[in-house]
Amino acid sequence: MKKMNKKNNTLKEIAQILMASKSVLLFTHINMDGDTLGSSVALCIALRKLGKQAHILIEDDIAAFLQFLDRDYCTYDTHIIENPDICLCIDCGDVERFTKRKEKFFQGKQKGCIDHHVTTEPFADFNYIDPKAAATGEIVFDLIKELQVDMDKEIGNAIFAAITTDTGNFQYSNTTKKTHLIAAELCDYGVDYNEISVELYQNNRLEKLLLQTKVLQGLTVFAAGMAAICGVTQEMFQETQGKMEETEGMIEILRNISGIEVAVFVKEIEENKCKVSMRSKKFVNVAELSKTLNGGGHARAAGCTVYQSYEETKKTMIHLVEEYLKG
Ligand code: 5GP
Ligand code: MN
Repeated sequence: MKKMNKKNNTLKEIAQILMASKSVLLFTHINMDGDTLGSSVALCIALRKLGKQAHILIEDDIAAFLQFLDRDYCTYDTHIIENPDICLCIDCGDVERFTKRKEKFFQGKQKGCIDHHVTTEPFADFNYIDPKAAATGEIVFDLIKELQVDMDKEIGNAIFAAITTDTGNFQYSNTTKKTHLIAAELCDYGVDYNEISVELYQNNRLEKLLLQTKVLQGLTVFAAGMAAICGVTQEMFQETQGKMEETEGMIEILRNISGIEVAVFVKEIEENKCKVSMRSKKFVNVAELSKTLNGGGHARAAGCTVYQSYEETKKTMIHLVEEYLKG
């Protein structure tokens, strides 16, 4: 096996690799968020503008609020490009986050990774991992410049969607001057912030609200008021007709409570399998915490999968957070 490149490449080098290729298959992470999809769409458009065969290979449904981004870029068809010159994963630093497409990814003649998660251990032939980037969309913005592709409104919209969603609309601690400068520049390409914000944030189904009401009824505050946990079960989905993707953002409601440092959200995927999300406000490193359960992410937003029942998972998480806060 070829030795993995542990060091970051430069964006210039990555641009050269992409320019020398004919076909590029882009990979998002599962449970697609605005950043993985927006960044992939922006890069896919740019690559097509350069005459490359480019597609985004996905394995799960695109959440309703993000569907406006996909104008025939995404596909479930692993044969869309038989022997891709390049397979490039975007906003995804863990091969387990594209499990069903893993085999296809490693069939790429060259494999690359563009990401901003601090827990990412390079696994590709070329890498650009910048934990200081608020969103992978920021890195893709710079990469498109290196590719010397003219930005346009559609690329701008996709980058804006990536950045606004990963920064909690410019409020999280990952937001920097650069984040704002990029957003400002996107204005020059015709991006209408309000238009995209309406698509992303003012588009909820009533069922989402019913689900949210039920979820919040299960809220528990613990660790002397410093932590809060709640979650969603399969039963709640049946009762409200809400969807898993509609739980997006509910964890923020917990973190927004005054005095709360750690928020935990447990999603029952199936019997004895829960997806856990964690957020912190000021000082707890939740990336570290979720790493103890084989997950990862960022200091203020991370996650993991726990193979226990919903109730057991909640207990496990309460114990973990309590112990951490004691220490
Ligand atoms: P979310 O809670 O929104 O699913 O994820 C928050 C952050 O943690 C995201 O940046 C996501 O990539 C990361 N994350 C969530 N779950 C996992 C996981 O199981 N493994 C790793 N490595 N990162 C995760
Ligand atoms: Mn991201």
